[in-house]
Amino acid sequence: MYGFEDRLREEGFEVIEIEVPVVSPKAKDYRALCEKNDCKEYGTNWGCPPGVGTLEECAETLNSYHEAFLVIKRYVLDPKNAKDMKRAKDDLGDSSRRAADMIRPSAPVKVLSDGGCRYCGVCTYPGGACRYPLQRTDSISGYGIDMEELLKKIGRKFAFEDCAATLNSIILIGKTRK
Ligand code: SF4
Repeated sequence: MYGFEDRLREEGFEVIEIEVPVVSPKAKDYRALCEKNDCKEYGTNWGCPPGVGTLEECAETLNSYHEAFLVIKRYVLDPKNAKDMKRAKDDLGDSSRRAADMIRPSAPVKVLSDGGCRYCGVCTYPGGACRYPLQRTDSISGYGIDMEELLKKIGRKFAFEDCAATLNSIILIGKTRK
């Protein structure tokens, strides 16, 4: 109805309608992993913990949406190559944001993605408010979502590969405006 699925598919993404995800019982473990900061994104932007809010706040946000779509793309690259990984994450983030822009005139929309928000060169976190709240993307794991479980529900497996990375975003859509 919003046209974003066809556009994403034309750009090489898979788009699958899923149940609106919930905060997992394992969410505190995911937050502990975030705090270890292996990704170097913890505490650097409003889309990652702690800036993204408490798990209770994330649950409330998820609850306020009625539809969800998983966006998937497998990028052939060396996952240890930080530059290539950044390029792939930016590609997913940019396309997911463009999809959200198509939905926004008709319904509230939010994008969750692999990793935090990288929209601005340097995020305002923690000193100032988010510059572009509508373009902000939040971390799937920061929200305490169990991706393994989510993929299992749609018959997919969470897999790490030496020569590729499969990245995901989740587009959340609220009630259509009349
Ligand atoms: S849109 Fe900019 S200011 Fe807002 S969270 Fe993303 S990077 Fe930070």
